[in-house]
Amino acid sequence: MTDKLEHAARRIIEEIGEDPNREGLTRTPLRFAKAWREITSGYKRTVGEIVGDGIFSAESDDVVIVANMKFFSTCEHHLLPFFGECSVAYIPDKKIIGLSKIPKLVHMYSQRVQVQERLTRQIGEAIAEVIAPRGVAVLIKATHLCSVMRDIQDHDAPMISAYTQGVYREDNAHLDFFRRTVGYGS
Ligand SMILES: [Zn+2]
Repeated sequence: MTDKLEHAARRIIEEIGEDPNREGLTRTPLRFAKAWREITSGYKRTVGEIVGDGIFSAESDDVVIVANMKFFSTCEHHLLPFFGECSVAYIPDKKIIGLSKIPKLVHMYSQRVQVQERLTRQIGEAIAEVIAPRGVAVLIKATHLCSVMRDIQDHDAPMISAYTQGVYREDNAHLDFFRRTVGYGS
């Protein structure tokens, strides 16, 4: 076995007292390596590559909201999944970003090991960087398996994180509208 991820998986199986040669486990290191390459494939991608030429002139400065995008990520403290919904709002200045690009940015940053706060901020900063809007806000509501799977009482409540920039930071009315629209984060 030359693949380091496969080797690591085999070590984990041994360390927890299982038999890596047992029928159900023989191909597990291979599957583990494949799954981990996929769920961390966001390291190989960049904002520039994802956004490409998907930037257009704004015809108004009305709010744009992409609500409740599902995402799955991996907590960097326990290497266990956290997942939930991400919503993005921005108020354009001169530019807008193609709507399909926003879920792709969420996906790219989710496919890395993360803490929820950083994931929230990176999505907001990427949008702020590519279209320089009047303001951006990102809300994430997530369940962390490192809390709910382990024997920690009262830690199964979802965690909510927010990033705000520009007018979303200066004027609560914008953020309140966003929160009411997506139904969480208040
Ligand atoms: Zn964790």
